[in-house]
Amino acid sequence: MTSLDPRAPLVLDTRELGRRPGSERHVEVTVPAPADLGIEVLAVPEGSPVELDLRLEAVMEGVLVTGTALVGLDGECVRCLEKIEDEAEVDIQELYVYNDSRDGQAPDEDDETSRTEGDLIDLEPVLRDAVVLALPFQPMCQDDCPGLCPDCGARLADEPEHDHGDKVDPRWAGLASLKEDPSN
Ligand SMILES: [Zn+2]
Ligand SMILES: [Zn+2]
Repeated sequence: MTSLDPRAPLVLDTRELGRRPGSERHVEVTVPAPADLGIEVLAVPEGSPVELDLRLEAVMEGVLVTGTALVGLDGECVRCLEKIEDEAEVDIQELYVYNDSRDGQAPDEDDETSRTEGDLIDLEPVLRDAVVLALPFQPMCQDDCPGLCPDCGARLADEPEHDHGDKVDPRWAGLASLKEDPSN
């Protein structure tokens, strides 16, 4: 009844552990990133290398996976839209409970527990959560990016002295007075 593809890059085989608590296996592989890994403004490009450095350890109730994933990131600064290329090392820690320990209980829809499927475990949802959690909600090209000039759209990080003085662009002056006129 397993639905996992043992050849999928993020499906790991735990058979070697033999369910003997204490036995462990070190997995160091580079796999292609799945699609949609990340958030809208910052994500791991699909197919880019994800370096996994993991320890699979058999414990009483399942297989404990701990380690790190090193991913490349592509995105844009939320303030000035400059392209961001970065990398992140995210921590992975997840217990995959042996599926048969369910002992005939009805599957629970809200059950968030990761489970083994046969001898296989699916790392993808865990990697996905770990990456999303590790990403800044508001990625910026530099600490406290000054953003874009509200008047002309110039990138202020490139022009620290950028200034229009007090004068308002004549194209917008008319619009401003329209807006302020309550009779409109
Ligand atoms: Zn920026
Ligand atoms: Zn400006």
